[in-house]
Amino acid sequence: MASLGNPKNTIEILNKYSFVFQKKFGQNFLIDNHVLEKIVRAADITKDDFVLEIGPGIGTLTQYLCEHARKVLAVEIDKKLIPILEETLADYDNVSILNEDILKVDIVSIIKEYNDNKPVKVVANLPYYITTPIIMDLFESHVPLSGVTIMIQKEVADRIKALPGSKDYGALSLAVQYYAKPHIAANVPPNCFMPRPKVGSAVINLTPHENPPYHVENVSLLFSLIRASFNQRRKTLVNGIYNYEGLSFSKEDIIDALDSLEIPNDIRGEALSLEQFVRISNYLSKYIHS
Ligand code: SAM
Repeated sequence: MASLGNPKNTIEILNKYSFVFQKKFGQNFLIDNHVLEKIVRAADITKDDFVLEIGPGIGTLTQYLCEHARKVLAVEIDKKLIPILEETLADYDNVSILNEDILKVDIVSIIKEYNDNKPVKVVANLPYYITTPIIMDLFESHVPLSGVTIMIQKEVADRIKALPGSKDYGALSLAVQYYAKPHIAANVPPNCFMPRPKVGSAVINLTPHENPPYHVENVSLLFSLIRASFNQRRKTLVNGIYNYEGLSFSKEDIIDALDSLEIPNDIRGEALSLEQFVRISNYLSKYIHS
């Protein structure tokens, strides 16, 4: 099968099946071989790897993955794409296709079933309407991961890798950096896709931490504190946490925590590092137990 990274071949197969793009599924197919090569290189795939691809579309990236990996499991929500994938991937015997919604399947059980619970690499040109839930799901459900290389909206990639003090820094930066080290591998313009998205894209590599970077007493408290701090961005951290519905600390407790860590009382969440959030969270966790 000729490479679908060549737009002529993509158009041909789409016409053959009278395929109509579904906006609701975030369908923007890659039509650039250089970008496909960059993704595979950034993911550092070898013949030892089991790759989970989310949203294979017509199989453009999947073909590359099959060439480089030991085994590929591709999960696609749109049933109209399944017969197309059967044709475009017919040359490969190391691929399985699941017609499922990635947010509804139990990824951990799938990995157990298909890869004996061994670590997998996730590689995908993600549907942009559900980028954040997919990323958080992979990490929070403790899927065994050895790498995540995904095409996402450039603006989201910038938020993920942002550090304290930057305008892009927020709950998403902290949540992802708690689990992994982000690195932007490539910026990708709209003309590399069919149809063209309205926004720029980026390939981001998330390397999961082998061990958690900090000891956290209560992870769900840490995440609530982070959400509370960025819920009202212009408020101080004390007011953000105090006003947050899911938390019930007194102002005194919060100020106490900041004082003990020598953090100014008027600080805003956007100025705090992950380590500082962890220390505040560990300090406040004792008020939850008592
Ligand atoms: N990988 C292909 C490529 O690079 O050309 C297609 C990428 S396109 C941006 C996203 C793909 O994800 C589409 O094929 C879409 O149908 C699929 N998709 C959207 N929502 C999904 C979901 N919840 N679960 C699984 N696949 C989904």
